[in-house]
Amino acid sequence: MSKKVSPVDDGIALLSVHDVTPHYEDEVVQMCDHLDTLDISSYTLLVSPFYAMKRSNSFEKNELFAQYLTSLGLEISMHGYSHHTKSGKGAEFFRMPPEQVASRMKLGVSLMKKDFGIPPVGFVPPMWKAPQSITKVANEMGLTYCVLGDTFYDIKNNSSHSTTFHLVSQGQESFSQSDAFLELELGGPVQIGIHPLDSTLSSVLELIADMKDRLGYTFVGYNDYLTR
Ligand SMILES: [Zn+2]
Repeated sequence: MSKKVSPVDDGIALLSVHDVTPHYEDEVVQMCDHLDTLDISSYTLLVSPFYAMKRSNSFEKNELFAQYLTSLGLEISMHGYSHHTKSGKGAEFFRMPPEQVASRMKLGVSLMKKDFGIPPVGFVPPMWKAPQSITKVANEMGLTYCVLGDTFYDIKNNSSHSTTFHLVSQGQESFSQSDAFLELELGGPVQIGIHPLDSTLSSVLELIADMKDRLGYTFVGYNDYLTR
């Protein structure tokens, strides 16, 4: 698959809220309110359906939150199964054997079908890291797209798009990379992942406002970009 590679258009910021889980319910709600205030209406909700493998974080136990997320009318995609590795690191699929990745993907998709009534649209692994074989699994599961690092696989159209960099705010990859900021000034296509805990951090929201108002970026969710 993915014979044709083309860059995502300049001036596009593929925006997602990472780690959407009942564990961060209040912060997710706050973040969605902030984005609404900034007049940003297209972004992806990246759900980890069984965050940290805790029953209390399941959507089955938090139906109202699932209903709230659905009511937003945004794209809901999958972001790992538990998000963490057994040892508690944040990149669940990194260095995991492909068979185990496939079985977790299947578990996650069926859980999300149950929780939200529809399967996830696409897939972005925790920290954007997973074995290449995950694109095949995503295809088999009928997902529309899959993202690995700076490559955005358009599964349905058998093509892929590239971004100049990806940033997640509260992850291990820092939000303050000077190269990244230079790239932003140039208007190159980027992926911006914001963490629910950023809802209390004005710097991240200021960066988004600056990208939008001064640098002229258009924020868009992954699937909305593919279906424009
Ligand atoms: Zn994450």
